[in-house]
Amino acid sequence: MTFTLAIIGRPNVGKSTLFNRLVGKRLALVDDTPGVTRDLREGAARLGDLRFRVIDTAGLELVTDDSLQGRMRRLTERAIGMADACLFMIDARAGVTPSDEILADLLRRRDVPVILAANKAEGRAGEAGAVEAWALGLGEPLPLSAEHGEGMAELHARLAPLVDEYALPLADPDESEEPETDVDLDDDEFDEEDGNDGEIRGGKTRAGAIDPSRPLQVAVIGRPNAGKSTLINRIIGDERLLTGPEAGITRDSIALDIDWGGTRMRIFDTAGMRRKARVQEKLEKLSVGDALRAVKFAEVVVVLLDAAIPFESQDLRIADLAEREGRAVVVAVNKWDLEPAPNQKLRDLREAFERLLPQLRGAPLVTVSAQTGQGIEQLRAAILRAYDVWNRRVPTARLNRWLAEMLAQHPPPAPQGRRIRLRYITQAKTRPPGFVVMCNQSDKIPESYTRYLINGLRDDFDMPGTPIRLHLREQG
Ligand code: GDP
Ligand code: GDP
Repeated sequence: MTFTLAIIGRPNVGKSTLFNRLVGKRLALVDDTPGVTRDLREGAARLGDLRFRVIDTAGLELVTDDSLQGRMRRLTERAIGMADACLFMIDARAGVTPSDEILADLLRRRDVPVILAANKAEGRAGEAGAVEAWALGLGEPLPLSAEHGEGMAELHARLAPLVDEYALPLADPDESEEPETDVDLDDDEFDEEDGNDGEIRGGKTRAGAIDPSRPLQVAVIGRPNAGKSTLINRIIGDERLLTGPEAGITRDSIALDIDWGGTRMRIFDTAGMRRKARVQEKLEKLSVGDALRAVKFAEVVVVLLDAAIPFESQDLRIADLAEREGRAVVVAVNKWDLEPAPNQKLRDLREAFERLLPQLRGAPLVTVSAQTGQGIEQLRAAILRAYDVWNRRVPTARLNRWLAEMLAQHPPPAPQGRRIRLRYITQAKTRPPGFVVMCNQSDKIPESYTRYLINGLRDDFDMPGTPIRLHLREQG
């Protein structure tokens, strides 16, 4: 079986042009294969080093009567059904039309990764249309010119992870390779290649809920002596270890696949139990490099604090790192069994948390004792909930009703008498949730206003603790 990409779009947006570009001369061979339907063309495509099958809903151009929409729908449904991913094409010069919206709606309902392409984007004429395409709620539009071959490198970048993932055995718990990660190494969460990350990954295998075929990736991070090894041993002791310790992501770390209360999790122990043998290393500081690697591999990061010395600078740095990398964060305060006045202590901790880590407002704070097992079940629940929030998707219509209210409650400023207009909001990605607001004078929107919106999103759509990205897009 080969990875199959379906090119979806209303007539005349340039689907065949792209199809021909991807398939080139190899088309004739495939097209002659008996059984290929008249309405769907398929061909062997090549893009750089990628090989895949491409389907084009070509027959549509022939239809001109009003049954067009019904046929377009049916044909599109069929193509989607055959595809591992869809490239949904709009005409950037024409902008978003009602037919585009119908098809986008079809795609959003299906559990298939979608790359949204705004074709005919050569020159400046296509820019507005490409921006408008955000409104379809299918992630970041990829500007293309099928005719002129522009945007092909970006298309490759979007497709490569999908084709690669297809080639991977999805449910293999014994991968001895480093566990795959969906994090880019650079910081810009909205760059061309990873802007769609959540869409793509969320689409096929992890649409919000826990996917039983893949372990949820958790890293327990904390400074030396916080109790990481004790905690992990406790969890393993209570639960079912699915595979033995595997080489982890750093020289001294290990990864463990466990069934924790019915959920498969892959836990990274950064302290490394093996390291325990070498006592003097316990004096070491937590290496930032190790912590960073663990954070990048994790979906949920458990920041483990020692109740006796909570929120030290190293702890804050780790939590901040996890936030900046866009991970879901759970803060666990360990050695709670030693606390003489737990209630007062908990109040102090919450206060310190809010003051020192405002960027993680609402993140779960769980008290545990790795030694006695107290609070471990609450920790598990907090991890699942953080993961869930991290994957949350808010429908575009609800977002825009919300935006209207936010604007009415607290209008944006009018620098030099010219009012800032926030026209439209859409969620561009998940894991973590990322939103795009189309506006004018984006460079004049004060930080405090962006914070107002982010906090509003967090509170009104119940996304505590997860990092939220808000991106302002200039649109005249
Ligand atoms: P389809 O009906 O979606 O398969 O669209 P076609 O591939 O037949 O293209 C429709 C028209 O758009 C043709 O006249 C193409 O030459 C033109 N077209 C396709 N791609 C581009 C492009 O990138 N830029 C411009 N300006 N025109 C394009
Ligand atoms: P790591 O360096 O973060 O892996 O920390 P360890 O798991 O090695 O724990 C450091 C020390 O704290 C050890 O002496 C543990 O026995 C102790 N410890 C860990 N968890 C707890 C706990 O919940 N309660 C108490 N009282 N001691 C703990």
